[in-house]
Amino acid sequence: MILRWHFKRTGISKDVDIHVFTPEDAPLPVAGQAACEELALAMAKRGISFHPKAAVKEVLKDGCSAAFTDGSSMDADIVIPIPAHRPAAIAAEAGLAAGKPWVPVNPATLETSAPGVFAIGDLNMVPMATGRPIPKAGVFASTEGDLAARIIASRLLGTEPPPAFPGEGLCYLAYSGTQSGSVSGRFLTPGKPDVRFNPPSASGMRAKERFESDWRRFRI
Ligand SMILES: Cc1cc2nc3c(=O)[nH]c(=O)nc-3n(C[C@H](O)[C@H](O)[C@H](O)COP(=O)(O)OP(=O)(O)OC[C@H]3O[C@@H](n4cnc5c(N)ncnc54)[C@H](O)[C@@H]3O)c2cc1C
Repeated sequence: MILRWHFKRTGISKDVDIHVFTPEDAPLPVAGQAACEELALAMAKRGISFHPKAAVKEVLKDGCSAAFTDGSSMDADIVIPIPAHRPAAIAAEAGLAAGKPWVPVNPATLETSAPGVFAIGDLNMVPMATGRPIPKAGVFASTEGDLAARIIASRLLGTEPPPAFPGEGLCYLAYSGTQSGSVSGRFLTPGKPDVRFNPPSASGMRAKERFESDWRRFRI
């Protein structure tokens, strides 16, 4: 949507087709059905074609064609793929993943099966009530790192350990260069995640910019 906004500003929007492909069946399943419908509508309004259940198998022709697992393919001037997501080899080699794709941890402390060894961020698997892991997001990597550090410090100092990992997080969703929505919530609530979609606004974009600036200055 930022690209569409950019192409409009530069006056070439009518010459640019944008297609979004995802192996999932909706734009952002973790945010719930209402958010998915809202996002699908936002893309449609901007002439962005959304293709669910479409997993890329291979990028061909020097990055100008995508082949999908169902045998179809699409040519484009630019294909922007997200590489296959997998944990670093060192975790598997250390035996921390116990043959699983991601490293299982105690959801309250993020400690692995090896006492005193913590796995934070994308590497770990923190199950939600639905059985699926909490989303792999920078915001969790950050808060999990903070918690692991506090637990280690409390053990060294013999002080009270910090409260359990709350699984709270927020991700911004830019609709343009001036408007941003967000998805926020508590992902470890019993039953199912308690996640809210916050519609796009100019103040949302300002909050996004503040968040980015805090990250760059290590203030998060
Ligand atoms: C396209 C895309 C968009 C995203 N958008 C968002 C977003 O809007 N909001 C959000 O919150 N999150 C977003 N994320 C997710 C976010 O980037 C990740 O969740 C976050 O970077 C995970 O942090 P991490 O430290 O766990 O892992 P990483 O950032 O992957 O860091 C792991 C590091 O370990 C290094 N490493 C690996 N093996 C070794 C080794 N043997 N020795 C030394 N170093 C090693 C790697 O090189 C890497 O630098 C996005 C991800 C992608 C791919």
